[in-house]
Amino acid sequence: MVSHARTRISVIGTGYLGATHAACMAELGFEVVGLDLDRAKVESLSAGRVPFYEPGLEEVLARNLQAGRLRFTTDYDEAAAFADVHFICVGTPQRDDSGAADLSYVKSSVEALAPRLDRPAVVIGKSTVPVGTAAVLAARIRELAPAGDAVELGWSPEFLREGFGVEDTLRPNRIVIGTDSPRVEAAMREVSAPQIEAGIPFMVTDLQTAELVKISANAFLATKISFINAMAEVSEAAGADVMQLAKALSYDDRIGGKFLGPGLGFGGGCLPKDIRAFMARADELGVEPALSFLREVDAINQRRRARTVDIARALIGGGFAGRTVGVLGAAFKPNSDDIRDSPALDVASTIASLGARVTVYDPEALERAEREHTELNYARSMLEAVRDAEVVLLLTEWSEFRDADPDELGKVVAERKIVDGRNVLDPAHWRARGWTYRALGRP
Ligand code: NAD
Repeated sequence: MVSHARTRISVIGTGYLGATHAACMAELGFEVVGLDLDRAKVESLSAGRVPFYEPGLEEVLARNLQAGRLRFTTDYDEAAAFADVHFICVGTPQRDDSGAADLSYVKSSVEALAPRLDRPAVVIGKSTVPVGTAAVLAARIRELAPAGDAVELGWSPEFLREGFGVEDTLRPNRIVIGTDSPRVEAAMREVSAPQIEAGIPFMVTDLQTAELVKISANAFLATKISFINAMAEVSEAAGADVMQLAKALSYDDRIGGKFLGPGLGFGGGCLPKDIRAFMARADELGVEPALSFLREVDAINQRRRARTVDIARALIGGGFAGRTVGVLGAAFKPNSDDIRDSPALDVASTIASLGARVTVYDPEALERAEREHTELNYARSMLEAVRDAEVVLLLTEWSEFRDADPDELGKVVAERKIVDGRNVLDPAHWRARGWTYRALGRP
């Protein structure tokens, strides 16, 4: 491995993005300190425990802690004194009072870091922010830093997918850095040297374009999912099969098959809040009509959740009051324990609010779900979750659920009725085993 011992890195905010980024930068040979205000998170990471589920990350973390290239702290003095390049990876959730992004964490991380920067340094934002944020922060940093103009800011949006975080950080599709400063560009080239050497595209843009790349990528992906889910709505009304439709569309390489899976739609800590923040920003910029289609994208997505509840209600024969329902899945997608804006939990909660006893199982997200959704019951296995269920809903496409045996489940349920919210089961197979099978967008 190439040695990059000279460049020292700090990563501010060690959640899904920051913990992965810190560990992977150490894996690439840099000396790294990760900083978070959450003491429990810092203690856990320092002890080699990843406080969330991310395949492969624990090994990378352990290896680099042991090699002495990686450590974690809650102390801004330590991070400022140690590093030459500081990555901002704090959260930018949706605000409580509007669809806009809550920039308070990004602002407070900059307010804490900048006054401690008394020698030349480069700050690189990675959090997803509304276009125009970076320019404001750059000015604020120059104002606060004792080293003044010698502290410069660039923006390098992050494209990692939860569940593939390590791979996506070590070998991203592309690296984008927004800056007009040769020094920021040089620092970014230095910390991206292993990837640049491996031939990964490296693009330098202005700040605004870099901010927009991230948010427009997410808007595109959300649109593609909602497009096929709109086709599912039409298919339901017309008696067509959206799975066959999607397959036929996917053979067209102008369209492609990725993100074209009809089902319960998107959720998580990124797509929903990012498209809402994007619309809010377009409004501020006076170009609201340019993104008004995203309102439809969001609405189509929300309607899939309601439709799933309706299908289950019809299947169970009217009302949910006093009924027993088994739910497979709590995470917003498989290979993650992230339950932020999870479609599965949204549907489960709605059904519980209508009077059913809902029992949920998920391979990784139970602990988080239990903490936040006390209205639901939880089981430690798939079979336990569906025991005595009058209807089963598959809401997150974990491979454990894809591979479920209809006979095994059939033995413990009260009724062989299933709603496949992710279109991952073979309807013919399940029907042949005596199940009433319903899915979104299919007859
Ligand atoms: P997260 O909530 O998991 O992590 C954010 C962390 O920042 C938390 O640990 C929090 O304690 C810490 N923090 C908050 N304020 C701080 C401060 N002032 N100083 C130090 N630490 C502070 O969020 P995340 O999923 O890691 O997302 C972070 C950013 O990355 C967001 O802007 C998100 O949109 C973006 N992003 C996330 C992903 C993803 O897959 N999760 C992918 C691409 C981009």
